[in-house]
Amino acid sequence: MAYTKIEQYDEETTSALIKSYRDAIIALGEDADREGLIKTPERIAKAMQFVTQGYGQDAKAILESAKFHEDVSEMIIVKDIELYSMCEHHMLPFYGKAHVAYIPNGYITGLSKIARVVDVYSRRLQVQERLTTQILTALKDSLNPHGVAVVIEASHLCMMMRGVQKQNSVTTTSAFFGQFEKNETRSEFMKLISSNLH
Ligand SMILES: [Zn+2]
Repeated sequence: MAYTKIEQYDEETTSALIKSYRDAIIALGEDADREGLIKTPERIAKAMQFVTQGYGQDAKAILESAKFHEDVSEMIIVKDIELYSMCEHHMLPFYGKAHVAYIPNGYITGLSKIARVVDVYSRRLQVQERLTTQILTALKDSLNPHGVAVVIEASHLCMMMRGVQKQNSVTTTSAFFGQFEKNETRSEFMKLISSNLH
């Protein structure tokens, strides 16, 4: 295995987080010692380490762990990849779907690896725009393809829960490289990801 999945929690990080979240609960006016909250700082400490585990993972290593020589020159699309990330401005979740395509130039990678790369960059404090380009760059650098396209559609809890309360708004971001910079190729991709045929 060229990469490892982090399931264990670093003790030092966990205890520092427990202390901070306990202080935060008290600062919010709550009783940190009441039954329902007593273990909450520890739960948040572990949950936050889980949702930010992408810092310890290497997208390039994941893609290259399943890189095969193959003379395919057709567009390969993985659509509707589930995505859960954390907005770095409010530390509230944003979630949605990623659609990723590439046009191979001698090499392909495992389809599941593309979904893993989405996780690696989602599990960090993020902005949707940077997440989109990081996924594109990882594919571009690891596979040297003729083109890469990434489209992300996501709902942001910081918009949905707070002031503006635009509950149904979805933010769409996209990044294109190589052949996808041509209108024709890009339109074909956009048509394929918007169709409901699986
Ligand atoms: Zn936000």
